[in-house]
Amino acid sequence: MSFDRERAPRVGTVKEVTSLSNPIIKDIRALGQKKHREESGTFLAEGLKLIIDALELGWTIRTLIYAKSAKGKAPVEKAAAKTVASGGLVLEVSEKVLGAITRRDNPQMVAGVFESRYRPLGDIAPTRNETYIALDRVRDPGNLGTIIRTADAAGASGIILVGETTDPFSLETVRATMGSVFALPVSRAEPKAFLDWARKSDVEIVATHLAGSVDYRTIDYTKKPVVLLMGNEQQGLPAELADGAGRLARIPQQGRADSLNLAVATAVMLYEARRHLLALEDNGR
Ligand code: SAM
Repeated sequence: MSFDRERAPRVGTVKEVTSLSNPIIKDIRALGQKKHREESGTFLAEGLKLIIDALELGWTIRTLIYAKSAKGKAPVEKAAAKTVASGGLVLEVSEKVLGAITRRDNPQMVAGVFESRYRPLGDIAPTRNETYIALDRVRDPGNLGTIIRTADAAGASGIILVGETTDPFSLETVRATMGSVFALPVSRAEPKAFLDWARKSDVEIVATHLAGSVDYRTIDYTKKPVVLLMGNEQQGLPAELADGAGRLARIPQQGRADSLNLAVATAVMLYEARRHLLALEDNGR
């Protein structure tokens, strides 16, 4: 990749910061708390590749932060130029500051503050052969990040967070998505609004439940757009959501485990739906 000097940030547009008591750094560190992420409508992401991908996908960057040792590297300068061009701020910081921002001993060389983005549920008009994931009150940031990453890899069209869930824009979740948080639209809704939307959109809700009577392999995932509805880690699906679903699917288990981990169960379901859709493509339908 060649570096375009004309697009490099001009002298003076990069601010050097070495102190943790700098107010800009304090604000960025405050993004570790959900309250501050919500108030500012922003979140932190780390890693050069992830930041380049986010910029290419059209996400709005407010601040680019890079370690002194990354200065002059073409991709970093390019990301800095894009940040300045879109009205953002570029900070060159010490590794100590970067470590404090990202809460790591060995921090990535680059981090960015981006504007959060949810896709309104009403904007989604599902079409046949699409698969969505709906997560009831997902609690664990690692589970949510892994599910977003897996859904992206499996070709799903979006994630719908139902009820009070963990924040998809927390540092831990963003880290676990490995960049897929920028690729896959995330929506949120209360249970009733979700069920109303599903009814209006004529989607098939395939709810997963330990007491499900339908083997997940016997379902046809190709007739309508499908929403795979997954239950909360501790409590599973509440009756309101289970009753609103077309069918309750179960993944057969052996051994002593009472259930699969939520992210693992979601991956199994996603790839089963994917397998059906790929078979359809192979048959030219
Ligand atoms: N104690 C919870 C319960 O009673 O439902 C366990 C929840 S489990 C960790 C989280 C979610 O993963 C479940 O609500 C369900 O959506 C899905 N899940 C896990 N194992 C499953 C299985 N064998 N069949 C269907 N869904 C499963």
